[in-house]
Amino acid sequence: MSVYTLPDLKYDYGELEPHLSAKILQLHHDKHHLAYVNGANDTLEKLAEARKTGSFAAINALEKSLAFHISGHKLHSVLWTNMSPKGGGLPTGDVKGLIENDFGGYEGFLKQFNAACVGVQGSGWGVLSWEPLAGRLIVQQVYDHQSEHAQGSVPLLVCDVWEHAYYLQYENRRAEWINAFWAVVNWDDVNHRLAEAKLGKFSA
Ligand code: MN
Repeated sequence: MSVYTLPDLKYDYGELEPHLSAKILQLHHDKHHLAYVNGANDTLEKLAEARKTGSFAAINALEKSLAFHISGHKLHSVLWTNMSPKGGGLPTGDVKGLIENDFGGYEGFLKQFNAACVGVQGSGWGVLSWEPLAGRLIVQQVYDHQSEHAQGSVPLLVCDVWEHAYYLQYENRRAEWINAFWAVVNWDDVNHRLAEAKLGKFSA
């Protein structure tokens, strides 16, 4: 039984052009994201098997795999809805007010988020998260899909800076991809995710 499933995109592969090529989007969603979904389900099955046999020799690798694949699945699910053919522009709604309160304004937020994205060493993400203990937004620089993550925080806005997210189109110019991401950002979705996060919900 599959616990996790690949969500459909809400737009066609070519609809985010010229900011993101159809070929990248298709590969990224249909191949890369699917691999995380399958990896999460496979790892859950292997853990069930380990409980059955009582053999936990591979526990460290399995727990790492579980965190990696579930986190990869969730972050990609957020990424697809964070982008829209009708996106771009400045923050709106509740998110706008929180960015002003928690980062001293949009400029400071944008600089921190972009620096986090550009600076990721190797594979990772820039992430704007709801941090429920403080009741505020934070920017996180996430390595792979799961490392340097503040426990319990909820990703609202994510930029994938793994090479598979941009290399075919932007080659080594990661900053150009991050700029392109802002041209398609869907603030309505970020506000929807914030409202859900405050209720303890999370949608793929
Ligand atoms: Mn990716």
